[in-house]
Amino acid sequence: MKRTLLARNADVLVTMDARRREIRGGGVYVEGNAIAAVGTPDELPPTADEVIDLAGHVVLPGLVNTHHHMYQTLTRAMPLAQDAELFGWLRALYPVWARMTPEMIRVSTRTAIAELLLSGCTTTSDHLYVFPNGSRLDDSIEAASTTGIRFHATRGSMSVGASRGGLPPDALVEDEDAILADTRRVIEAWHDPARHSMLRIGVAPCSPFSVSRDLPTLPRTTTTSPTAGNGSGARPQSTRRTWDGSAATCGTRTA
Ligand SMILES: [Zn+2]
Repeated sequence: MKRTLLARNADVLVTMDARRREIRGGGVYVEGNAIAAVGTPDELPPTADEVIDLAGHVVLPGLVNTHHHMYQTLTRAMPLAQDAELFGWLRALYPVWARMTPEMIRVSTRTAIAELLLSGCTTTSDHLYVFPNGSRLDDSIEAASTTGIRFHATRGSMSVGASRGGLPPDALVEDEDAILADTRRVIEAWHDPARHSMLRIGVAPCSPFSVSRDLPTLPRTTTTSPTAGNGSGARPQSTRRTWDGSAATCGTRTA
């Protein structure tokens, strides 16, 4: 039996539904991780496993954050990177990020999610694209799972280091076959496509100055799991092209 929650007696409950209802004295009834009902007291069950009195509060739907790099929570105040443009900021911080550990990924993820939850966000993505010193996407996923937020972890990646014309140092980039193998691994290990899922995995190559144009089209050697969110199966062999998005010619990024 799913645990239930009744949050009632709000000064105003703002539904943002099709009729834009704003319900004075309204409440929310939750079963498990899904809202089962909103409305006036006579439209809601009289009690639940947990009951919260919202007198003095306005209730809004949870906010959704579609872009975050939670590991950067730990490097917000580095003097070298203050007031820098994007590339200067990245060059200052790449060596710092290269020293991060799995524990730092976990701590930064929990810090970022605490900030989000305290400001009304209930669903968030995270774009993690550096995996130094044994760090894995699993570290952020496991950290998020302790918080109660609905989490969309994206498996980021960088494959073109400075020696090939990219911006990041070679120590922070990964082999493209390894990227694809680990992306598949985390999808198969963690992705939950069900309705009301608390955890989904996205695929997120990083930027034109750190990923080759081949990465999204590399030939696959095995079929993709039906539950995987990024494809429908094996593709024919593609011809590898040369890297042509070097940091020297790529001055901006959109993400
Ligand atoms: Zn970003």
